[in-house]
Amino acid sequence: MPSSDSKPYKGRFAPSPSGPAHQGTMLAAIGSYLQARSKQGEWHVRIDNIDPPREIPGSADSMLCTLESYGLHWDGPIVYQSQCQDRYRDALHELKLNNLIYDCGCSRREIESVAKIGPNGMVYPGICRNGLAKGKSARAIRLLTESCLIMLTDQIQGEYSLNIEREVGDYVIRRADGPYAYHLATVVDDALDGFTEIVRGRDLLGITPQQIYLQLQLGYVTPDYAHLPLIVDSQGRKLCKHSEAQAVDDLAKNDVLKDIFDALGLPVETEILNSPNEILWAWAIDQWNINNVTNTEIKSTI
Ligand code: GLU
Repeated sequence: MPSSDSKPYKGRFAPSPSGPAHQGTMLAAIGSYLQARSKQGEWHVRIDNIDPPREIPGSADSMLCTLESYGLHWDGPIVYQSQCQDRYRDALHELKLNNLIYDCGCSRREIESVAKIGPNGMVYPGICRNGLAKGKSARAIRLLTESCLIMLTDQIQGEYSLNIEREVGDYVIRRADGPYAYHLATVVDDALDGFTEIVRGRDLLGITPQQIYLQLQLGYVTPDYAHLPLIVDSQGRKLCKHSEAQAVDDLAKNDVLKDIFDALGLPVETEILNSPNEILWAWAIDQWNINNVTNTEIKSTI
């Protein structure tokens, strides 16, 4: 796998605007920020608004305000995936030229009735691989996958591998309802914007081999990966925008940060937590060591 080691570090935080920032969102923001800044690298923000039905109006702006109020300053302009459609179209075209995509006319129900379940959900059984059956019309576009093991050495979570064809199947890269799929958009933007490392939440570890597979098909360099621990609530449920996770804007900053610093292996004194942003982040950047980040779940104390 090509390595991105020799280039100046460029990292990113890429939230989906599907609700206000919660503690898990801030963990991803802070982890990616500290890793980039400790390497004297750039840190960018991309708004993953590729999925109009799931977008909550105003949440992108509210997340950016939250980052600002926490003193997490980004480099360059904000990239909005909704404005990058040409890139995705070109990548899809490239895949088409190489006969790596096909139209799929299956409904979810049809797939459900025959598919086996893999680590990431239903494994597409290849129903439309050899062309659409009579009477079926194209809905989604799928990537034609091959049986090969994609291995990843994650800086925090260690080794992880998947056989894409057997354990995922030909996956969707343009959805039946129109938008380009998350994998295509993310892989294209990460590559064209030249990110050298992707630091994000552990919930995305399982799908990373799919993204690496797609990078290989498009001839892109594979960045390094580091998946941060998940913050869970008192019942062990992942904090997410759809759960009852509280918006960080409604919480005391010190409470939000305390758990996050614990998860990131940065035991912090109250005096530091109470310091102005510049002092707080200078301290955290100085103390940061990705090898101290825990790879187990962290319980939110909020
Ligand atoms: N937008 C995705 C999310 O908020 C994360 C994308 C990524 O970091 O690759 O879950």
